[in-house]
Amino acid sequence: TTTVAVFTRDLRVHDNPMLAAAARADHVVPLFVRDRRVENGTFAAGRARFLDQCLTDLDAGLRELGGRLVVRSGDPVEEICRLAAEVDAERVHLSRDVSAYAGSRERSLVAALGRRVLHVHDDVHTVVPPGRILPQGNDHFAVFTPYHRRWIATRWRDPVPAPRHLSLPPGAGRTDTNPDGPTADVERRGETAGVARTRSWLDTGIDAYEQRHDDLAADGTSRLSPYLHLGCVSPLLLARRAAAAGTDGAAAFARQLAWRDFHHQVLAARPDTAHADYRPRADRWNDDADGLDAWREGQTGIPIVDAGMRQLRAEGWMHNRARLITGSFLTKTLYIDWRAGARHFFTWLLDGDIANNCLNWQWVAGTGTDTRPNRVLNPIRQAQRYDPDGAYVRRYVPELAHLSTADVHQPWRLPERERRGYPAPIVDLAEARTRFLAARHGGAG
Ligand code: FAD
Repeated sequence: TTTVAVFTRDLRVHDNPMLAAAARADHVVPLFVRDRRVENGTFAAGRARFLDQCLTDLDAGLRELGGRLVVRSGDPVEEICRLAAEVDAERVHLSRDVSAYAGSRERSLVAALGRRVLHVHDDVHTVVPPGRILPQGNDHFAVFTPYHRRWIATRWRDPVPAPRHLSLPPGAGRTDTNPDGPTADVERRGETAGVARTRSWLDTGIDAYEQRHDDLAADGTSRLSPYLHLGCVSPLLLARRAAAAGTDGAAAFARQLAWRDFHHQVLAARPDTAHADYRPRADRWNDDADGLDAWREGQTGIPIVDAGMRQLRAEGWMHNRARLITGSFLTKTLYIDWRAGARHFFTWLLDGDIANNCLNWQWVAGTGTDTRPNRVLNPIRQAQRYDPDGAYVRRYVPELAHLSTADVHQPWRLPERERRGYPAPIVDLAEARTRFLAARHGGAG
């Protein structure tokens, strides 16, 4: 028998139930389809490069087992069917994903494959598959704490060994002539780097996670999110290792993986929340193009906000605390629609994914699952608490690098020449807070 193993955002050889199942056949053809609808116009160059690096690494990992990765470009359903016909595969294996787009892709594939069988694996992208644990009377958990309690108590699946050998069907060489395929000159990141990063995190970082994760300048988080997003690292193995470590730091870290699963099970049940409010409110968001531009460019005049926004562009990543501060600033201080913020993050974040991005944005904007939807973060107090000596601001806002700790978070109190071209605040924080609360209380509440 011959199977096609369709990779999507599960770009790993180890602990991959989709690949392990496909590899039980006599012959297996691993495939990745570059879907221009997903990438075009929405991905910054860094995201596309990271995907290339992950594909190169996956190809190398598959070659070590005797296989190789076929990469095609186009409509995934058409390309999968085309390849399945070329190699006369009886079966196609695919990991189930939670977005509306992934759902419709899966349904179209079932129809288009005809007599070929599609096997869908729902235990690849998360520790606990969406829908596996449910509250009474609902198809998903809407509140994190009870979800987390059940998540910890659930029996997780066992890890799956990597296939020992992959055998391509005779004549599969034809499938290799693809200009968009992985190239040798791309640095390998992906699974190899993700696994190495995991090892060093478990050895040296995780135990201090509870104390350090909110310190903006400390680099005290795992930075595994891009690898988790593309599945180069197995969330299940990571959660199992954190649980086995047994320290407070490891438990706090595992809790973040539960947040990831939580948002995935919300999106799986409510795919509309990628665009629509989870809890509809009567917000009339500000149509403030200048404010949105200043926010995107890191030119709002509020140093902690600008540091976060500049880190995003420089690194394709932003510290979680900075995501909370910049998100609250956009949606509650400027009162701009969370969807504009989510789009910008999605373009730049290497870890940008629909479940985590949209539902965290909704959480921040107070349209999602936050049980205190109208709290407004004060960026000055946040800065003083989470960047107490100003090191984070100095790193990303060089105009302010010369300022003392007392001034670095509030440079507008200084004479203009000492600000070295750094802008004055585009908004009065106190007035903005009052305006937001009045609008919310006058609206749906
Ligand atoms: P760690 O602190 O080391 O946490 C480990 C892992 O847990 C992360 O890699 C991530 O997979 C998961 N995790 C941590 N916090 C959260 C959370 N709040 N929700 C869901 N999963 C979490 N995370 C994304 O992966 N993709 C996104 O597109 C994304 N967009 C966000 C947008 C906003 C407005 C906010 C407030 C948060 C967003 N997050 C997103 C969540 C979080 O900020 C990142 O996962 C985290 O900063 C990644 O860094 P890390 O790997 O060092 O995290």
